[in-house]
Amino acid sequence: MDGLGELDERISGCRACPRLVEWREEVARTKRAAFADWTYWGRPVPGFGPHDAPLLIVGLAPAAHGANRTGRMFTGDRSGDVLYRALYDIGLASRPDAVSADDGLTLHGVRITSPVHCAPPANKPTPAERDTCRPWLVQELHLLRPTLRAVVVLGGFGWQAALPAFAEAGWAVPRPRPAFAHGARVDLEGTEEAEALALFGCFHVSQRNTFTGRLTPRMLRGVLRDAAGAAGLHPFGPAQEDRDAPAS
Ligand code: SF4
Repeated sequence: MDGLGELDERISGCRACPRLVEWREEVARTKRAAFADWTYWGRPVPGFGPHDAPLLIVGLAPAAHGANRTGRMFTGDRSGDVLYRALYDIGLASRPDAVSADDGLTLHGVRITSPVHCAPPANKPTPAERDTCRPWLVQELHLLRPTLRAVVVLGGFGWQAALPAFAEAGWAVPRPRPAFAHGARVDLEGTEEAEALALFGCFHVSQRNTFTGRLTPRMLRGVLRDAAGAAGLHPFGPAQEDRDAPAS
């Protein structure tokens, strides 16, 4: 097992945040009626995707009945349906949906992680929980550093959480720190420790954003495609197509 595999195992055993440990395990015990026959994961959810990925997607935290049930990032909920569909459409995922950890889904050149690895009540980790979990993200970034060239951060919470982690992992993050915006691109200069990194902001794929049309599939594909290009990947389809087509 390589360093990232070992890190994923250590993350899965973490119990550093008492409130989140209690919540994730209570949800796993009580379950949602529709998933009564599932054995919930009920533990921290590690990152998912190749260990030499040039592109990283940073979310927020696992969903109580999604990743906290299936044990894999964005797997088993509506947010994941939107994200994996977009990744599939541009050629970075082997299938358009994600239902369980053993569904055979593989990602091409992209890894997905989050700044908080346990499902929080109301999808809202506290600042203290975010800070407690940050060393895991810093270690993951360290291990990805040799290949990592671009990152998509989903939502303002992830942005706030990730910027200090990039700084701790060896990148030069400007001060004052750049603000989050959908479509924002910030180029972190390379240092002696790390190659330059292109950072992209994207609205989170939450139901609140996707049901209201704040984030459309076209907008999501556009950011993912730009980031994939910056990472040296070759996404399917011309970028102009998503910029010009009606939202869908
Ligand atoms: S949120 Fe992070 S630090 Fe807190 S218990 Fe979960 S894995 Fe550990």
